[in-house]
Amino acid sequence: MVAQRVAVRPEEIRRHNLSRLLRSIHQHGELTRAELTATMGLNRSTIGALVSDLVALGLVTEYVPSGRDRAGRPSHVVAPRADGPYVLAVDLAVERIVTAAVGLGGTVHERRVTTIEGADRLPRAVVDQLAADAEWLAERLPGSQGPVGVGVSIPGTVRRRDGFVDHAPNLNWRAVPFGELLADRMPRRLDVQVGNDADLGAVAEHQRGAAVGCEHLIYLNGSVGVGGGIIADGGQLHGVGGYAGEIGHMTVNPDGPPCHCGSTGCIETYIGEHALLRAAGVTDQHGPQAIAAVFEAAAAGEQRAVDGVHTVAIWLGRSLANLVNCFNPQVIVVGGSLAEVVRLDRVSVETELDRRAMAAARAGVKVLLPGLDQDSALIGAAELAFGTLLASPDSMVASLTTT
Ligand SMILES: [Zn+2]
Repeated sequence: MVAQRVAVRPEEIRRHNLSRLLRSIHQHGELTRAELTATMGLNRSTIGALVSDLVALGLVTEYVPSGRDRAGRPSHVVAPRADGPYVLAVDLAVERIVTAAVGLGGTVHERRVTTIEGADRLPRAVVDQLAADAEWLAERLPGSQGPVGVGVSIPGTVRRRDGFVDHAPNLNWRAVPFGELLADRMPRRLDVQVGNDADLGAVAEHQRGAAVGCEHLIYLNGSVGVGGGIIADGGQLHGVGGYAGEIGHMTVNPDGPPCHCGSTGCIETYIGEHALLRAAGVTDQHGPQAIAAVFEAAAAGEQRAVDGVHTVAIWLGRSLANLVNCFNPQVIVVGGSLAEVVRLDRVSVETELDRRAMAAARAGVKVLLPGLDQDSALIGAAELAFGTLLASPDSMVASLTTT
């Protein structure tokens, strides 16, 4: 077979490099021209021309560092423009909605947190809230170039292509065309992307959190619901429909407690927040305050709470062992309220992991807390929303100025 020589036009190369350069600055926050030259493998004049293009597009700015200890001519620093475009990132959880304006470089410019319960969780009510949040944020960022996309994190199974939520058990959503509903309420030009919370958390922790540089990682997100995001060999494991990673609904005891998904004895019924409250003997309260109270009591050494956290820690260790045996990750980042279980009783988690995981896979894995604290899913939603701008900066900016 004769390989065909395909002529690549200089304009295509320029666009490709423009995207790479913007991605680099987005990932690192800011870089010197010298660092860009070294990491991108391009010569100084090409980097200079590309940076000028991004400056002209209003995406980045350049400044000369004022450090006194620099010898010779300092290299210009290229940084995202603070008043440049931002995305609307949304972390929809069972008990609250966080909506934030996030700029290039992952900077959270502004955020709004709304507590939700009962009818506030209905899809239409959530869409109304997000439309109000978008206006609220825009008012607070008057000089900015406005949002360029919307990314939403959902605690459920999501079809990536169109943001169709197949099932979000703890919101009680089934078959909700959420991406479409939200896009209809947003300004026309805004692209709406929807993803699963743990999948997005994994992306964010990989990109700028505890697992930077790890190509095999799992982000286990545990609050009311429990889900996982899996990155293998640097790429996210989505499965054929995008529904992979429902770790919370792996069966660990078919005779166990009923689960919101309709099954019984899922992992979630042993390490989710309802399980923690049950194990700590709390029967008359639920919600974030009740959970915080259990953690406080456990930290203060109150026996009932200590026992509750210990019980969940043991089951968490068992869950992690299953993941280690299946996926052989370098790192498991444990987020949500489960992070607090690790903080309070890491010994029980690790001991159970030692007991249950295959030795070779166990030896290579670290259990870490999130580098982004409670913002993993939110920052992941922002990464999703930035996709189009990062892939094609000049056509995206052109489309903004013509609408
Ligand atoms: Zn389940």
